[in-house]
Amino acid sequence: MRQIVLKIHSRCNLSCDYCYVYESIDQSWRTQPTTMTMATLERVAHRIDEHARDHEMRELRVVLHGGEPLLAGHDGVEAALRIIKGAFPATRFSIQTNGILIDDRFLELFHEYGVSVGVSVDGGAAETDRHRRYASGRGSYDRIAAGIARLMRPEHAAVYGGLLCTIDVDNDPDEVYDSLLAFRPPRVDLLLPHGNWTTPPPHRDRPLAYADWLIRVFDRWYEHRPVESGTRIRLFESIIARLFGLPSETETIGGEAPGIVTVETDGSYEQSDALKTTAEGGPATGLSLADHAFADVLSHLAVTAPYKLGSKCLSCPVVKVCGGGLRAHRYDAANGFENPSAYCDDLFALINHIGDRVRADLTQPAVVTQ
Ligand code: SF4
Repeated sequence: MRQIVLKIHSRCNLSCDYCYVYESIDQSWRTQPTTMTMATLERVAHRIDEHARDHEMRELRVVLHGGEPLLAGHDGVEAALRIIKGAFPATRFSIQTNGILIDDRFLELFHEYGVSVGVSVDGGAAETDRHRRYASGRGSYDRIAAGIARLMRPEHAAVYGGLLCTIDVDNDPDEVYDSLLAFRPPRVDLLLPHGNWTTPPPHRDRPLAYADWLIRVFDRWYEHRPVESGTRIRLFESIIARLFGLPSETETIGGEAPGIVTVETDGSYEQSDALKTTAEGGPATGLSLADHAFADVLSHLAVTAPYKLGSKCLSCPVVKVCGGGLRAHRYDAANGFENPSAYCDDLFALINHIGDRVRADLTQPAVVTQ
């Protein structure tokens, strides 16, 4: 197991229209308790300790997630970090937040427990406020940017993990890229909006719109990366890594068994949140902390959710890089997951473009300077 996603709070202070937790076909959040109780946190810690000892793990990654995890408050976040760290000191923490509630006390906690902070933002004000709004309809960019500005202070460099941007192809890729780089993030994750063959992604009527958007950003990043920013972009780095037969760092690329288990606020185990976009109960496992170890979940998933590709992927020339994309994007209510990704054409074009650029560089004669 690579990572545990811990839902310490199941509600959010924003109402983003593309949110996979609240706006998807799976509405299980409605029956989840608002916060994870101390008793559930103690059980999580016990299961982590059990798993780490049984598998002689040197470290384990835990992501504090929601909803909006900072709604758990200073005491709630501190309790989660303290209880888990107490059970398994080699835990490596990160948190994914909308950034609005980041304040000095949270930053102190992040330093104390070595928490890497990722903030969700989709570019500048216009791009971000297109989707990331309060329930009232008001945009949230100003508050998000204020939170990121706190993280950008030099004294917080050690806990500034990066930014997560959900792509909207109606947003100009150059403006999005420039706006993200202005926050000087060490890393950017570019997320394809969730969709599948039954519930298609937005703008499916525009062939290769996502490939074109991503290629525009890739070319700028690839040409200027070391000088312009030093910012890592996990999607592009994972494609390059897979081209060389190295592991991907993202579920979106590579098709490797993800090894990620989610613990909901009520202590039930779930698969990746992205599966909330497939069907009611899409990520459910039927297992819970009270009765099952993490190893039970992994064994259960190996049988009930095997990573199998369909015939188109199996004969695809880029399958070793793509791996069929994100599992949730391959879903079709008619036949499950043995399909190409709903983003197949875009992934194929993007991977070939990146492959061509990298191969061209490798065949360039070396420049000798005297
Ligand atoms: S590009 Fe399409 S066919 Fe090829 S592996 Fe990816 S999803 Fe499957």
